[in-house]
Amino acid sequence: MFIRTSGCNLRCSWCDTPYASWEPEGDRHTIDGIIARVKTYSSAKHVVLTGGEPMIAKDIRLLASDLKALGYHITIETAATIAPEAIVCDLVSMSPKLLNSAPDSIKFGPWRKKHEATRWQPEVIRTWLDNGYGYQFKFVISQPGDIEEMQGMVKSLQRDIPNSKILLMPEGITQEAIKSRGLWLSEQCKKFGYRYANRLHIELYGNKRGT
Ligand code: SF4
Repeated sequence: MFIRTSGCNLRCSWCDTPYASWEPEGDRHTIDGIIARVKTYSSAKHVVLTGGEPMIAKDIRLLASDLKALGYHITIETAATIAPEAIVCDLVSMSPKLLNSAPDSIKFGPWRKKHEATRWQPEVIRTWLDNGYGYQFKFVISQPGDIEEMQGMVKSLQRDIPNSKILLMPEGITQEAIKSRGLWLSEQCKKFGYRYANRLHIELYGNKRGT
C-alpha cells in the first residue's frame, strides 16, 4: 500500500509527482479513514509512506504508530531533510537530492534558493542513522558526474555506510531516458557495488499517475 501525502519542502526540477509538490492537490483524510482504507487490502502487509515529503505531513507520526500497532511493515520514503523525532518505521528510504535537482534559477528564483538551502541536511541524516533505523539511500542520477558528488556527500556523513545500502536510480520519465542513463549507470553500480533502482512503473505503465 502506498500512502502519498501532498506537500513538499523541496521543488526538484525533474519532480515526477508535481501534484504532491509544485502544485499540491488531494483530499483531506483522517487517520482512522486512512487505516480503514488500508485494511480493505487484506493481503497487503507492507505500507509505504511517501509524498511529496511525508515527514512534513500533519500527524504522520501518529499514522505510523497506529499502522505499526496493527502489524504492518512500514517504509518511509523521504528526502531526509526532517528529523525522525521518534517516528516508528521498519525502513527509512532516504533520498537526499543532488545539485541536478535544483529548479531553474531564472524561472524559479525564490524556490531555487529555498531548495538549495534545504536539500542537503547531513545532521538530519545522521540523526536517522544514529537512532538505529533500518535504512537505505536512494539517489537520482542524471549524469556520470553525479556519482562523484553523491560519493562526496556520503563520505561527509562520516558514518560506515555500505555501498549495498545505496541505490542509484536513473532520472527520467520515459523508457528511452531511463534506458540511455541505465546503460552507463548499471555499469557504475557493478563497479562500486551499489544497487541499481529500476523505474519499473515507468516501464510497465509509462509516466501515469496512480501506478
Ligand atoms: S522531494 Fe520528491 S516530491 Fe519533493 S519536489 Fe523533489 S521529487 Fe518532488
